[in-house]
Amino acid sequence: MAETPLPTDDRPVVFRDALVLTMDDRHEIIRHGDVLVIGDAIAAIGPGLAVPDGTFEIDAAGGILMPGMIDTHRHMWQTAMRGYGADWTLTQYFVWYYLEYGTYFRPQDIYAGNALSALDAIDAGVTTTVDWSHGLRTIEHAEAALQSLRDSAGRFVFAPGNIFGAPWEWATNPDFAAFVKRADTGSDMLRMQLAFDVTGDPAFPERGAFEVARELGLPVTTHAGVWGATNDDGIRLMYENGFMTPETVYVHAATLSDDSYQRIAATGGSVSLSTESEQSCGQGYPPSWALREHGIPMSLSVDTSVWFSSDLFTAMRSTLGADRSWEHVQAHEKGETVTHSHLRAENVVDWATRGGAKALGLDALTGSIEAGKKADLVLLKNDGSPSMFPITNPYGHVALQVGRADVHTVLVDGRIVKFEGSLVGHDLAKTRAAVEDTVEHLQSELGDAVWDAGMNPEIPETKVLDNPYMYTEFRTAATHAATEA
Ligand SMILES: [Zn+2]
Repeated sequence: MAETPLPTDDRPVVFRDALVLTMDDRHEIIRHGDVLVIGDAIAAIGPGLAVPDGTFEIDAAGGILMPGMIDTHRHMWQTAMRGYGADWTLTQYFVWYYLEYGTYFRPQDIYAGNALSALDAIDAGVTTTVDWSHGLRTIEHAEAALQSLRDSAGRFVFAPGNIFGAPWEWATNPDFAAFVKRADTGSDMLRMQLAFDVTGDPAFPERGAFEVARELGLPVTTHAGVWGATNDDGIRLMYENGFMTPETVYVHAATLSDDSYQRIAATGGSVSLSTESEQSCGQGYPPSWALREHGIPMSLSVDTSVWFSSDLFTAMRSTLGADRSWEHVQAHEKGETVTHSHLRAENVVDWATRGGAKALGLDALTGSIEAGKKADLVLLKNDGSPSMFPITNPYGHVALQVGRADVHTVLVDGRIVKFEGSLVGHDLAKTRAAVEDTVEHLQSELGDAVWDAGMNPEIPETKVLDNPYMYTEFRTAATHAATEA
């Protein structure tokens, strides 16, 4: 907890002298700008603002003020196993969660994972998160996931799903519809999507789940273009049956043909890129290069902390790197050289903020710093850090220089939830205890041998290639050269 007395809910807050990345339509940058927050909203932006008496002042000099970041796909429940799958492939992930041990999660484990993930998000400046909650095998699990979001700071889109059942069964169960109605998630702080994947079965059994989504008014989010799991057939079936809509979010969209990208582009949907995940797991090469070619809007996501970082700085830099890697490699194969990169740091900062807001239909509320929008704000400032100056290129600084340790202050809906580098008003100890209980539960249920084996998958045999140059010959040649000299 920060020592500084913090303002109560009704006291205005002003950031003074910040480098403001507005991410508005013009992407205006204001150097030495102030941002005034009154209540839950941004009241004014500009240099030297006059503010009401008693306004809480935050010295933002030397820092960058940006919109709160937006993660459009995170399996929050899996944060309870943070880092466990560092060396997994997607196959190992499927086997562990889908086939073998995902059902070991109790409702309280889902709650604990979500609570930790929510704190993690705030700490890293992510103010809106889609909880792609696909571990919900009972309504009790769903209630626990939802309650955890309600108890956490942050703006959320709750996307219930269930990897242990068929979507045409669980989504059409009247208990599920009753849960959704009870959940009452139409507020500015909590929205809902429906999370399920489309297998490509020609009989299109997922129709029932799409119809439920339509009846309940829930957008669908779906893992699409995942090598070995979902493919062009799923996209085609969605298209032919009229279920591709502008609010649909396609996660990964990596292994797809131009035809599928054209269908996505033509129906106005967007793609959530989880580049860290796509690079490691094998869904396909991170597809931002292809999505750019088709004019498909993008947002960024973390996917799961069972492997990956939970900050969008890493998402931005890995996306920028993957896109540029692709462009260089493609050129080199043709004997050409890329002299100018297409993708800019500015683009990935946009995808991490505004792109997410648009994908989730929240653009009127969040995603940019504009008067009248909700005050979801992140101040990147770290006076003790040599990596915070000089700030010559603000987008480049955000995308490639800063990290979560530079997240100084975070506001969600006008409320300070992190200040001077510390979480505010959160019971980290309680969350730690809950997560420790989950890990203990899983470990004791599975036993040490299974637990250790799951974390340490076998390494395929690696053959070191034959090398015509021998170390002994190198020594001989070197001695020979020295003698001659
Ligand atoms: Zn995912």
